[in-house]
Amino acid sequence: MAIKQIEKLKEKLVEIAYLGSAVAVLNWDRETNMPPKGADARALGIAHLSAVVHDKFVKINEDGLLSELKKQLDAGGLSQEDAVIIKETWRSYERERKLPEDFVKELAETASRAQAVWANARAKSDFKLFLPWLEKVIRLKKKEAEFVGYEHSPYDALLDYHEPAMTVRKTEEVLSELKNFLVPFIAKIRNSKIKIKPEIIKGKFPIEKQAVFNKKIAQKVGFDFEAGRIDQSAHPFSTSFHPSDARITTRYDEKNIMYSIGSTIHETGHALYEQGLPANHFGTPLAESVSYGIHESQSRLWENIIGKSLAFWKYFYPALGKDFPKLFKDIPLRQFYESINCVRPSLIRTDADEATYNLHIILRFEIEKEIMENKIGAKDLPEIWNQKMKDYLGVIPPDDRTGVLQDVHWSMGGIGYFPTYSLGNLYAAQFYGKMSEDIGDIDRQISLGRFGDIKNWLRKNIHSAGKTYTAGELVKKVTGEELNSRHFSDYLETKYGEIYKI
Ligand code: ZN
Repeated sequence: MAIKQIEKLKEKLVEIAYLGSAVAVLNWDRETNMPPKGADARALGIAHLSAVVHDKFVKINEDGLLSELKKQLDAGGLSQEDAVIIKETWRSYERERKLPEDFVKELAETASRAQAVWANARAKSDFKLFLPWLEKVIRLKKKEAEFVGYEHSPYDALLDYHEPAMTVRKTEEVLSELKNFLVPFIAKIRNSKIKIKPEIIKGKFPIEKQAVFNKKIAQKVGFDFEAGRIDQSAHPFSTSFHPSDARITTRYDEKNIMYSIGSTIHETGHALYEQGLPANHFGTPLAESVSYGIHESQSRLWENIIGKSLAFWKYFYPALGKDFPKLFKDIPLRQFYESINCVRPSLIRTDADEATYNLHIILRFEIEKEIMENKIGAKDLPEIWNQKMKDYLGVIPPDDRTGVLQDVHWSMGGIGYFPTYSLGNLYAAQFYGKMSEDIGDIDRQISLGRFGDIKNWLRKNIHSAGKTYTAGELVKKVTGEELNSRHFSDYLETKYGEIYKI
């Protein structure tokens, strides 16, 4: 009986997943190929189809099938795999079900209008233009938290959406430990006698040649071009329609080759995860990624820990020199390595190096938490923002555009998203530590361009598990220890201690 019921539920889930993939194709196409006049119709089409997907999902329990299976789950009557499917489907269903339809619509409409207002306010560098809309978004997000419910902080309800089972308390614990390490560490780097000049990598890098080089890297580290593509878009992103079809995009800047290389490796890390999910479970949580944070751990592990290591460039630098002979002939590998790892406090999160980056996130996390807990109001944000920038990074934004207005997230209602970026860094360092132990001569393998063991390790330990474990459970299972920021700070200390002689 239970077998038949679970098969019936899976059929429904797979149908929803195919619809979701169709929407994802439309989204991908919009960013990569769509002619400009198609924008309005496409936006409407995507909105309609997304509503269909959502509607199908909230109606999944119309016949009581899911509730029945949930009872069997609670009674311990399901296999391990089926238990994951029901537990996770129930969790999403419960969350969606608690949000009234009117509310979902109001939030979506507010977010789309707020985004347009934000873009204009940012262009004019005028926070006051955005303030009334930000207040609306915040009011709705507080409402959402009340609908969904929480134990300690309303912020838990929003964080849980992006990083299931992660609590504000735990995030606060690891991020404040990280902050206590980072602030003096970055000050030490600033005071170091070693001054690195990233500006040495300059010149004109033809885009076609960059694209060829980027593909070489993606292929070498394990991106399956038979099951994925790399295209170009204004903002790099990754998406997936099925483990057999993962798409990534990158952005080219003729003057800055490291930009496209960095984003290609980053998105390749995301795609390797998607390509590594078990295709036979497509449509069910067994073939879904754990969380935003774990997804980011995969991209950041490749982009930063591996992709900005000396070993990695020992292998790839000769090829880079061959493709761009004039531009790299006077820059020795060591100098190149240092220049791509320059730590320098700056105003814009997305331009930040891997050390200072996290202070940008911690600042946003602290603000979001206090907003949600009614400790601060939206109108005070520019002042609070600038003060924190000064305290943590020693730089003060000259205007709102390079300060509080720089990110799109809040206008979209994405409160609770930011912490997943830093959690991703922390997970990545912790995974990498264990991976190095398991593989043994990982630096040597990287320097020889051998990435097979790394990919296999990730496949076996992380990708193939789908949503079997929550992020916290996965970290504990794989590394034998709960999430601990020490692994990341140790990584930074070793790497930058050597570069900056501190
Ligand atoms: Zn990412």
